[in-house]
Amino acid sequence: MDSDSVSASTWDLGGLFDDKPEAIPVVLTFSDYDSDLCSESAFNNKGEVISVVLTDPDMLDCPICVHPLCAPIYQCEHGHIACSSCCVKANNKCPSCCSPIGFIRCRAMEKVTESLRIKCKNKRFGCKETFLYHKKSEHENTCPHTPCFCPAPSCGFANSFKNLYNHFSSHHSSSATLFTFDNIFLLGVERSQKHVILQEQNEGVIFILNHVIQGHGRVFSVDCVGPSMFKDAFVYQLTVKCMKTCLSVETVPEVYSKWQEHTPEYCYLTIPSCFSEFKIQVCIKKVV
Ligand SMILES: [Zn+2]
Ligand SMILES: [Zn+2]
Ligand SMILES: [Zn+2]
Ligand SMILES: [Zn+2]
Repeated sequence: MDSDSVSASTWDLGGLFDDKPEAIPVVLTFSDYDSDLCSESAFNNKGEVISVVLTDPDMLDCPICVHPLCAPIYQCEHGHIACSSCCVKANNKCPSCCSPIGFIRCRAMEKVTESLRIKCKNKRFGCKETFLYHKKSEHENTCPHTPCFCPAPSCGFANSFKNLYNHFSSHHSSSATLFTFDNIFLLGVERSQKHVILQEQNEGVIFILNHVIQGHGRVFSVDCVGPSMFKDAFVYQLTVKCMKTCLSVETVPEVYSKWQEHTPEYCYLTIPSCFSEFKIQVCIKKVV
């Protein structure tokens, strides 16, 4: 880094983080650099955080397994780099030039990966998290701001789950059955209906009762529209009583950020064709 880079510290190259692979806005912390490389006098604002754009984000991934690099990172005598597990898998033979690898650390690259903080891709949906590049998947797989898509046909609205629930209440309330957690309600489902959208009145959480007609009867299950952190957050019961028979299922809803009509796959309630007129008792509970 030369002194020109210091004046560059006022750049603001941030902006909305999109999914394009070409360039990754990252937060670079000068204080993570050795004072030999970047003296204090050269950086009056030592510790100041700047935004930079990496035009080749692939450089942050192991060139062999393409997983994000994190220390220890090794290099062969010709400068090819590899993560520690790839060195083991390649029997310490550089896949590029066959020279030994796994004995010389690439400290410079380790410094780079340890000093980079990346912004969550869901920043535009309200996530303020920044994290080490190699923690990207760990965070983004469970990010509470993962966009969730409106299940109303041909709507296409997507936003964080709270905004989606508000959107649904204000735009599609007439197309949903309202209910409250822990209370049993009755649903009559026409044979032609493929699903029924349910919305919880207090918290706005959206669920969908799936309905498929199969050879042996009618199949029902419940999904939740929300972020992956809602996995195991709810339990539902479906019960159908007809004559002297009571059929019931109690299980957890599948969670989808982008729900699409589908045949119930895992747990579901099957009502035999001989049950003619019936209503389904539905009860959805929050798991505390
Ligand atoms: Zn690797
Ligand atoms: Zn090599
Ligand atoms: Zn996030
Ligand atoms: Zn909508």
